[in-house]
Amino acid sequence: MARRPLVMGNWKLNGSKAFTKQLVEGLKAELANVEGCDVAIAPPVMYLAEAEAALVGSKIALGSQNVDVNISGAFTGDISTEMLKDFGAKYIIIGHSERRTYHKESDEFVAKKFAALKEAGLIPVLCIGETEAENEAGKTQEVCARQIDAVLNTLGASAFNGAVIAYEPIWAIGTGKSATPAQAQAIHKFIRDHIAKQDQAVADQVILQYGGSVNDKNAAELFTQPDIDGALVGGASLKADAFSVIVKAAAKAKN
Ligand code: PEP
Repeated sequence: MARRPLVMGNWKLNGSKAFTKQLVEGLKAELANVEGCDVAIAPPVMYLAEAEAALVGSKIALGSQNVDVNISGAFTGDISTEMLKDFGAKYIIIGHSERRTYHKESDEFVAKKFAALKEAGLIPVLCIGETEAENEAGKTQEVCARQIDAVLNTLGASAFNGAVIAYEPIWAIGTGKSATPAQAQAIHKFIRDHIAKQDQAVADQVILQYGGSVNDKNAAELFTQPDIDGALVGGASLKADAFSVIVKAAAKAKN
């Protein structure tokens, strides 16, 4: 079945009001005539208002890098699904390895965020992936299955209808050392097959992004792989020209 590719930029803790406006303007100019690929950006929540305003008239969707499970109340420092909706955010990254590591977010907590997003009608971009040590120990599939099962076992396979999974091997994030297209394809196929064991139709439509040092040079080859439906891009999403090359590569490879 044909899946529409999705390329999303994770800006992480970078930017300013001026940077946000400038980068969005650059992306709008570069991507104005590109069809066949969904595009989203996740600036720091601090700059969602600037990004929302700058994105007016563009098909680029707004996203966020995190969300809390609570809607309102005494939860100092947290951001709710309703607040994200207030700014028109659509694709919400959860379970990024940096949050799992620095904020001790567990598989179960990430699954609760997934549930909160589905409840709110937002699109979860569930990040999964193994450490270098787990990879070397041959535990990649086991780790990915465990991270997906936290959602599958609490919400059921149907929760992945309209959802996105980003496979991001931790050893490839920000290191310049991307997984090879063949390595990434093998895990993507494993992930899709894992969901298919519960529901083939859900597995067929779920968007599986690869993330980890994707750039304007290696993107096209990654997108030749049948189960790689796009990319979650960190460093290269901070430059309009590099990010646009990645989007155009996905549009070309998948259409
Ligand atoms: C990320 O953190 O989601 C990511 C993929 O980063 P980078 O592209 O910089 O490796």
